[in-house]
Amino acid sequence: MPEGRIIKSLSGFYYVLHDGQITQCRGRGVFRKQKITPLVGDDVVFQAENELEGYILEVKERKNELVRPPISNVNQSLLVFSAIEPGFSSLLLDRFLVLVESNGIEPIICISKMDLVPEDKKPDIEKYAQDYRDIGYEVILTSTVEQDSISVLYPVFEGQVTVIAGQSGVGKSSLLNVLKPELELKTNDISASLGRGKHTTRHVELLPIGGGLVADTPGFSSLDFTDIEVEDLSSCFPEMERVSHSCKFRGCVHLKEPKCAVKEAVEDGTIPSYRYEHYVQFIDEIKQRKPRY
Ligand code: GDP
Ligand code: ZN
Repeated sequence: MPEGRIIKSLSGFYYVLHDGQITQCRGRGVFRKQKITPLVGDDVVFQAENELEGYILEVKERKNELVRPPISNVNQSLLVFSAIEPGFSSLLLDRFLVLVESNGIEPIICISKMDLVPEDKKPDIEKYAQDYRDIGYEVILTSTVEQDSISVLYPVFEGQVTVIAGQSGVGKSSLLNVLKPELELKTNDISASLGRGKHTTRHVELLPIGGGLVADTPGFSSLDFTDIEVEDLSSCFPEMERVSHSCKFRGCVHLKEPKCAVKEAVEDGTIPSYRYEHYVQFIDEIKQRKPRY
């Protein structure tokens, strides 16, 4: 039986991509049999009725399932942060990184609008980029006036299912437009803020880009740490996780404990102090979280 991946769902049809072709499938029976509604991103087994139509027989086990946007099997997230307008915030970036890491998704950092950065401010952005590269993250600096800076994303998408995330106005739609010009997504320009010409997406779709699939709808809009526990937070900070086995106390959460390898690494500058400050701030937020009933 042929297998493929659902890249779009609309009016009761599922569009299954397989061998570079798309077959329009009905769910038929799969909901009853597996008690599961197929999702965009699902790997499926289907029966082809003819060259263009078929029906889904089986939804394969999902590796994960995002709520916003509703997509399964996402393995990476492109976190877009503008260098300027809005200004770069390492606090917000760390928030996104924690959410993405805690979902078991690989983050890629993109710092956009580099063309707007004044020369004297460029070293600040380069420094951040280097800090995050030292942690082990891939960091890509882009600018829409230099399209080659964006083309480097094609191989990054290869073979992956990617969700783009980031605040409004950082340039997510602009990036997609460069990567897939036939899309013509409306960008957040003046007309959009006046309420005209705004792109409203009613359904989510995976776009084939650079040998991979990229969601057309941004993800991770809620930035609350509702599913993260205090003891798990440092596993979302790879540079802390790497040294934490040297902490004197097992289960050290790197706050007030003596002989803490993480705090020592912050003191000797191996871990950037702002990263540690954000960690402490997130711990406070998790502790203040209202208990769930
Ligand atoms: P989104 O809300 O994240 O999708 O952001 P948009 O793609 O709508 O971009 C917001 C605004 O920033 C638009 O006016 C874009 O033209 C502009 N913009 C996005 N990327 C760049 C860039 O690399 N350089 C410059 N100069 N402007 C950009
Ligand atoms: Zn510690």
